[in-house]
Amino acid sequence: MAKIICVLYDDPIAGYPKSYARDDVAQPEHYPDGQTLPTPKGIDFKPGTLLGSVSGELGLRKYLESNGHQLVVTSSKDGADSVLDRELHDAEIVISQPFWPAYMTAERIAKAPKLKMIVTAGIGSDHIDLEAANTRNITVAEVTYSNSNSVAEHVVMMILSQVRNYIPSYNWVVKGGWNIADCVERSYDLEAMSVGTVAAGRIGLRVLRLLKPFDVKLHYTDRHRLPESVEKELNLTHHTSVESLTKVCDVVTLNCPLYPETEHMINETTLKNFKRGAYLINTARGKLCDRDAIVSALESGQLAGYAGDVWFPQPPPADHPWRHMPNHGMTPHISGSSLTAQTRYATGTREILECYFEGRPIRDEYLIVQGGKLAGVGAHSYSEGNATKGSEEAERFKK
Ligand code: NDP
Repeated sequence: MAKIICVLYDDPIAGYPKSYARDDVAQPEHYPDGQTLPTPKGIDFKPGTLLGSVSGELGLRKYLESNGHQLVVTSSKDGADSVLDRELHDAEIVISQPFWPAYMTAERIAKAPKLKMIVTAGIGSDHIDLEAANTRNITVAEVTYSNSNSVAEHVVMMILSQVRNYIPSYNWVVKGGWNIADCVERSYDLEAMSVGTVAAGRIGLRVLRLLKPFDVKLHYTDRHRLPESVEKELNLTHHTSVESLTKVCDVVTLNCPLYPETEHMINETTLKNFKRGAYLINTARGKLCDRDAIVSALESGQLAGYAGDVWFPQPPPADHPWRHMPNHGMTPHISGSSLTAQTRYATGTREILECYFEGRPIRDEYLIVQGGKLAGVGAHSYSEGNATKGSEEAERFKK
C-alpha cells in the first residue's frame, strides 16, 4: 500500500460546482506534433468537471483506494504546521499542480524518507528541488503538452488586452463611464508590431502560429533552432540572444522553463535593452523576472505594460507589488487550468500512476528526473539545480 499526498487549490468560495456553464468539453484528437493525449486504462471523472480543486481530487480517489492505496488531499501546503508537512513522513508519492505548488525543497524531501515519485499535474517542475530529487533517486514526472496550447491562448489574450488597453476600458464601463479618450490614449493596433518569444517550444511555437494571422513580424530565440521549413512558413527572425530580440520587439513573451540559469533573466540590466514602451507577457514562471525591476520599469514607462499569470511565490502575499503596479494585466495562475486542460492533465496523472504501480515505463516525454539524473523532457529543457529558494514566503498569503 502506498500513501499519496495530493496538494490542490481550494474549492470555489461558493462551494464545489453543482452545474457547469457548458455540457461538454471539446478536445483535440492529438497534440500538434502528433503526440497522443494521455491514455490511461480508465478514468473515474466526467471530463469538464472541476478536478484541480480539493473536492475534485484529480478524479483519483476511486482508482487509488480500490487498489489499496491511501490518498490524502489537501490545500494546506505552506509552513511547518501545514497538512503537507505533517503527512510527508510516510508518503510515497506527492502530486501537485504548478498553480498551487507543493514546494518540494531539499528540506521537505529530507523529511520524506519513503518518497519515490513527485508528479506535476500540469507542466513545469521548478517547484521541486531537482538536485535533491536526483540525489535521492526520486522520479519527477509531469504531463507534457497537457496545457501548452491552453497557455498559448492566454498569451494571445494578454497581448491583445495590453496593446489595445482592454482592462481599463472595461473598467470604465463598469464604473458607468463612457470615457473614450481615457481608454484610447494608451490603445494601439497589434498589426505590424514586432512580437518575439523567448523560447519556441510547445507554447512558444504555438503562440507564433496563433499570431501569424495578425500580420505581425515574428521573432524568436531558443537554445535549439526551429526547422528551416517552420522559420520560412512563419517568416520568423531568429535571434541568438535575448538581448538581440528585446532590442527590436514591441511585444516580448516568455515561454521557457525556470531553472537556475533562467532565474531573473529579466532584470534591471536586461530591461534597459527593451524598446521603451514594450509590453512584456510572462505566463512561464514569475521568477524569470526580477520582481522589483518589473515594477520600476512600469513606473518609469520603460515597459508600457506587463501581463501574465505566474508569480513567486504562489500564492503571493497580499502585499506582493505586482498586485498594485501600474498598467499590469495579471491574473492568478490560471492559464493552464481551464476545465479543458484539467481533463487532460488529470488523465495524464492517472496514466503516470498506472505506469508506476504496474511497473510499466512512464512515457519518456513525461519524465523530468529518473534514475538519479535528468531524463526525457527534463534532459532536453531543464538544468539540474534548485529554483525553489524563497518559496517559504508563500506561507504569508493568508496572514
Ligand atoms: P517545452 O519544453 O515544450 O518548451 C520549453 C522551451 O524552452 C524549449 O524549446 C527549450 O529549448 C526552451 N528553453 C529552455 N531554456 C531556454 C533559454 N535559456 N532560452 C531560450 N529558450 C530556452 O515546454 P512548454 O512550451 O510546454 O512550456 C514552457 C514553460 O511554460 C514550462 O516550463 C512552464 O514553466 C511554463 N508553463 C506555464 C503554464 C501556465 O499555466 N502558466 C502551463 C504550462 C507551462 P530547447 O528544448 O530547444 O533546449
